Amino acid sequence: MKIIKIINEKYGQNNYLVTSGKDAILIDASANVTQVEENLKLSIPKPIIRAIFITHEHFDHIVELDNLVKKYKCPVFICEYGKSCLYNEKQNLSILDIPFKVKEKKLIKTFKDGAEFDIGDINIKCYHTPGHSMGSSCFVIGDSMFVGDTVFKTDIGRSDLFGGDKEVQKISLIRLNQDLAQGIKMFYSGHGANFDLENLKYNLEYLLGEDSGTEETNF
Ligand SMILES: [Zn+2]
Repeated sequence: MKIIKIINEKYGQNNYLVTSGKDAILIDASANVTQVEENLKLSIPKPIIRAIFITHEHFDHIVELDNLVKKYKCPVFICEYGKSCLYNEKQNLSILDIPFKVKEKKLIKTFKDGAEFDIGDINIKCYHTPGHSMGSSCFVIGDSMFVGDTVFKTDIGRSDLFGGDKEVQKISLIRLNQDLAQGIKMFYSGHGANFDLENLKYNLEYLLGEDSGTEETNF
């Protein structure tokens, strides 16, 4: 399995292309088709995008979603609590930048906490970790976890925007720390660098007691 980070430079948002043989999935949708194609071509034979998984409904993670779906015609999976926000520029926060609503309807699918999918060769488990937004989720593939804006290397996601909730976030982070993160070797977040389990534990134990998650550079 290969994990390739593709950054949307405008928003500093990390998308992850996960490939296994001829199968690929994309986590988050702010990378444009050209970027995705360039990275797919690095593997021979060129893998096919089978699905897109969205860590949460904020615009900086979905800005290229319609273009990607048009190109790859694959299903898009998002938490059941985040889906409706895709179609509302206030709820996807694009009102803070360039307002848009996602147009695609048919290929947008929802998952519930604990759902598991086999996409070709790739097994992915989905966990609902709300607090940064209503639909914030983490995905586990093998011993890697994709955490979106739930947690970063040195901070946690802000909880002061639409759908955010500090108390709910605290419950999600405790669950992550005590349960979901066990056995995970590397965490891949929506912004900034990857980090390991030791880093996550240090970060969460420190931050859960602090007034954190108010960094205003990320949505
Ligand atoms: Zn966000």
